[in-house]
Amino acid sequence: MACGVSAREAQLRANLCAVERRVANACEAAGRDPGDVTLVVVTKTWPPGDVRLLAGLGVRDFGENRDQEAREKARECDDLRALGVRWHFVGQVQTNKARSVASYADVVHSVDRPALVEALSSAAERCSRVVECLVQVSLRDEPGVLAARAGARPEDVAGLADALAGAPGLRLGGVMAVAPRSLDPVEAFARLAAVAAQVRSAHPGAGVISAGMSGDLEAAVGAGATHVRVGTAVLGVRPPLG
Ligand SMILES: *Cc1c(COP(=O)(O)O)cnc(C)c1O
Repeated sequence: MACGVSAREAQLRANLCAVERRVANACEAAGRDPGDVTLVVVTKTWPPGDVRLLAGLGVRDFGENRDQEAREKARECDDLRALGVRWHFVGQVQTNKARSVASYADVVHSVDRPALVEALSSAAERCSRVVECLVQVSLRDEPGVLAARAGARPEDVAGLADALAGAPGLRLGGVMAVAPRSLDPVEAFARLAAVAAQVRSAHPGAGVISAGMSGDLEAAVGAGATHVRVGTAVLGVRPPLG
């Protein structure tokens, strides 16, 4: 058992190192300071033990996309908050899960509708927390096809940003997107950067651009991402969901 654990630690260390090098290389290519890019390691489907190993390797930002799993993992790893560990919720939030998500998430990357702003705001207030929120932007070409509600339409982002900025218990951090498969990531993240600039012109403190995953983090860093959300490249290919 001890042998297995240390093998996992060695694997995570090597993977983390490789991802950090990719981020550093992308920053160098873009003339950016690597200190301006936060690596959020997405631990969905992986056990709390991996969170502990990664925290031991210096990771402080963890991402999850399903409420129940996230809530349990955050609880099991509650002691790590003393080290500065923060939880990022990156998946779709059902309105009836807002209360739960607001109880442990430090950052919600996926705010895409006014009803969710209201639900998160009252939930955060109820537990006396301040939750940073990002507006998730849909970068799809076909504006009519908002399949499974993956983000707000670009023309709706300013209104959502204003609502977040004025909502008690919430703090507007910036924007987030997932590059659609149908689009070149460089083009997708350029679109996101334009939306981010609009948000920042109205809300100068809202400088977060959450973009880039295992497969496209270089394009995201090139377009100004401040946060990359990486799962597979650090933890390996996820076990299939049960
Ligand atoms: C799972 C997930 C990631 C990480 O994806 P990888 O390809 O495993 O790096 C990033 N963002 C969101 C929203 C996710 O759900």
